[in-house]
Amino acid sequence: MQFAELSAPRIRALAPDTPIVFPIAAIEQHGPHLPVWTDSLITSKLMESVSERLKDQVLFAPLMWLGNSHHHLDFSGTLSSSPRNYLDLLCDLMENAISQGFRRIVFINGHGGNDVPAKQATFEIRQKYASRSDLLLLMTTYWGLGVEPWREDASIVQREMGHACEWETSMVLSIRPDLVGDYKELIPVDPGNPFRPGVRAWKTADRTAPGYIGVPDAASRSKGDLLLRLFSDALVSWLERVVHWDGQSWDG
Ligand SMILES: [Zn+2]
Repeated sequence: MQFAELSAPRIRALAPDTPIVFPIAAIEQHGPHLPVWTDSLITSKLMESVSERLKDQVLFAPLMWLGNSHHHLDFSGTLSSSPRNYLDLLCDLMENAISQGFRRIVFINGHGGNDVPAKQATFEIRQKYASRSDLLLLMTTYWGLGVEPWREDASIVQREMGHACEWETSMVLSIRPDLVGDYKELIPVDPGNPFRPGVRAWKTADRTAPGYIGVPDAASRSKGDLLLRLFSDALVSWLERVVHWDGQSWDG
């Protein structure tokens, strides 16, 4: 179900345990070869396929295209909400849903910079409604659900998501090949991180001059088809757990 297509009375009449999903993405530079709409394009495509499969079990809000991308602002093509504003925005969305009677509220994220604010929003709202035992507040990032695409296609080089990388370039080749520029001569940029498992603050320009991180020259349309299928499958399985949660237990 699409939130934007329903009338207010139909939304009000939905069962309160119907999960409502807020897809969150971004508009930001994606190297010299991908459109700035990449994260929103991929997340929209995943939501399209997931919502078709879950039919009337889950309600999908429209994609929030403005994300937290301040770390990309050295490059053109980036529109961003600063981290604290973005956190407030996500908290507002979650509170809107609670005030309308929803109890299972989910962020599905398609952009790395939204990860921390989305987690923080779910925690802040949980503490704000500490007396409620019926709330299920969740977030996930679509590539964080344990998918290991290289097990199905051994030619997949990357073992994790980069930026404008093999994985994202492949998925845009699958969705909108007309928007993909020349990627076959791009020199790989290693993700690096000598301070792991600690966390070092960074901005994109610290890590990459051309704006991508990973191995975009290894991309292909068939890899994109596979990645989209695997990520869709993982999201459907995870959302089915949200639908079937018993409403009581922590382990669910
Ligand atoms: Zn991206």
